[in-house]
Amino acid sequence: MRALTVIPGKANSAAVVEMPEPPASDGPILVRTLAVGVCGTDAEIVSGQYGWPPRGEERLILGHESLGEVEAAPAGSGFSAGDRVVGIVRRPDPVPCIACGIGEWDMCRNGRYTERGIKERHGYASERFRIEPDFLVKLAPGLDALGVLLEPASVVAKAWEHIERIGRRARWEPATVLVTGAGPIGLLAALLGRQRGLDVHVLDRVTEGPKPQLVRNLGGTYHSGPMAGIGIHPDIVVECTGAASLVMDATLQLAADGIVCLAGVSSGGRRISVDVGMLNRDMVLDNNVMFGTVNANLRHYQAAAEALAKADQAWLGRLISRREPLGRWQRALTRQPDDIKVVIDFTL
Ligand SMILES: [Zn+2]
Repeated sequence: MRALTVIPGKANSAAVVEMPEPPASDGPILVRTLAVGVCGTDAEIVSGQYGWPPRGEERLILGHESLGEVEAAPAGSGFSAGDRVVGIVRRPDPVPCIACGIGEWDMCRNGRYTERGIKERHGYASERFRIEPDFLVKLAPGLDALGVLLEPASVVAKAWEHIERIGRRARWEPATVLVTGAGPIGLLAALLGRQRGLDVHVLDRVTEGPKPQLVRNLGGTYHSGPMAGIGIHPDIVVECTGAASLVMDATLQLAADGIVCLAGVSSGGRRISVDVGMLNRDMVLDNNVMFGTVNANLRHYQAAAEALAKADQAWLGRLISRREPLGRWQRALTRQPDDIKVVIDFTL
């Protein structure tokens, strides 16, 4: 079968090659791939900066944002042929740690987890894949091709769950959320904020293209320019850019009892001057919390599936800015100005 693969650690090694059919050891459910979303992690792996092949192999099949259709599933597995499904990315570590031991592999404490398409397990960017029923999520029938957004939505669902759990430390009635970055994660974070009835503000660099209108159509307010100019003190900030200056500004703009959720990964090496004493003073005197979040477990995928099912499907569809066939994977991995989510469509 054809698959988009890479030799991890080796730049310019990505190629569509013939790979063996997925082994039975990957799980009893056989899925035909419909689409795979592309994100920054894939670009990092292709550039040789990240990623690990399965043990004993040279190439890693890419792809962790999946959408497929079940071709064959054993009786009693909870799945049957024709189901639209999405595979979960992470698998628990073998020890397992206390988090992985209860299915919270997103919180793995020893780093020995594996991840499909990223770390020591083949991904979903192949014509077919096999998977365990415990790591497969069934989609509501109406969602169709938009199901490829489930993985990024699961990351956002986890972020919101943790914001709300932290918020329960005391009486708290948040009204305003500021999302920094209007990429797929930021826009999905804004969607889930609206679904919670919050006043949603989104800050991004661009002033043109589809992002401002997408935010407005959600009922949110779009901002560009410096954060201090926005004129609000949000109860919640969901930081999706990893930009060092935004992380700082977010904390200083936050309302009392506010929560900053860091969901973007900084590239590191960018130095900004920070008055840590002032930051400390601000956070202590305002009971502020700043926390990081990554990945998602099964209940976050389920929450994300519910969130996507009740969202405006036309709005969600506009998040998928391009669909490229597998043969044009290079185009899929090359960012264009108006891109939001680019998808490799295995049905084209
Ligand atoms: Zn673990």
